[in-house]
Amino acid sequence: MKYADLHIHTNFSDSTFTPEEVAACANNVGLSAVAICDHDCVDGIELCEKAASSFGIEVVPGIEFTVEKEDAEIHILGFFIDYKAEWLIKKLKDMQESRINRIHAMVAKLNGAGIDVKAEDVFKLAGRGTVGRLHLAQAMIRTGKVKSFKDVFNKYIGFQKPCYVSHVRFSPKETIEAILKAGGVPVLAHPGIMNRDEYIPELIGYGLKGIEVYHTDHKASVVKRYEELAKEYGLLMTGGSDCHGMGKGRVLMGTIRVPYELVEKLKAAAGKNTL
Ligand code: AMP
Ligand code: FE
Ligand code: FE
Ligand code: ZN
Repeated sequence: MKYADLHIHTNFSDSTFTPEEVAACANNVGLSAVAICDHDCVDGIELCEKAASSFGIEVVPGIEFTVEKEDAEIHILGFFIDYKAEWLIKKLKDMQESRINRIHAMVAKLNGAGIDVKAEDVFKLAGRGTVGRLHLAQAMIRTGKVKSFKDVFNKYIGFQKPCYVSHVRFSPKETIEAILKAGGVPVLAHPGIMNRDEYIPELIGYGLKGIEVYHTDHKASVVKRYEELAKEYGLLMTGGSDCHGMGKGRVLMGTIRVPYELVEKLKAAAGKNTL
């Protein structure tokens, strides 16, 4: 059997793994394909493709976008996007800049709350690509004022917590349309984290084609719920580890995998794009 992990980050967003390390890790855990889905960034895809080809591993070009709806944060994956499209690269550049401003804004709030974290340290941790809350969390822990990721997100920078600042400028509809315009397949990431199943029909109306049923944060009962929901709405069922290298404490690649046929199904769905 051939297997794929369809949700992996590189250090172009908030993983500690380089694209080359992602390829080597995928080889070690016996995967035949991986989807690189960095937050608002496509710069790791080609490097990973190069490294993975020497192992005979296929790389699915992907992305992970964040949108908001009322009181929920929604993550949307795009598979088989044309990551060289100029308009997309320009849009991503804008989003990356807005992420930098947002770090300054969150750092100001945190300083006001007595956490002596410096924006420059966050940017140093982030390196190339996009900067995000996981980098900020790491810098906050280094100050010694906060003890754990759990505290960091629950007390300070989790969605709508006191020091949270949004960087989202596109609606769910605009985001799904952008993925379709880039020739990609829009899929709802880890819906169990969002836990707002009532939003799903609206997203399908905008062109959502699948949901990430299998994910490291989905327990068995949640998986079952989304398998049923996917069948009910005729959605593709994807799955991935959401591996952030050591960014979340341990390497998750290899813990969630889906049959390789799903890659073919996504490829076919991308081919049928009409937008
Ligand atoms: P950002 O794209 O900058 O908003 O950061 C989103 C990332 O922060 C997610 O991909 C996770 O890696 C991390 N994150 C968000 N909320 C939490 C949480 N409650 N606990 C741990 N990590 C989180
Ligand atoms: Fe992340
Ligand atoms: Fe996510
Ligand atoms: Zn992710």
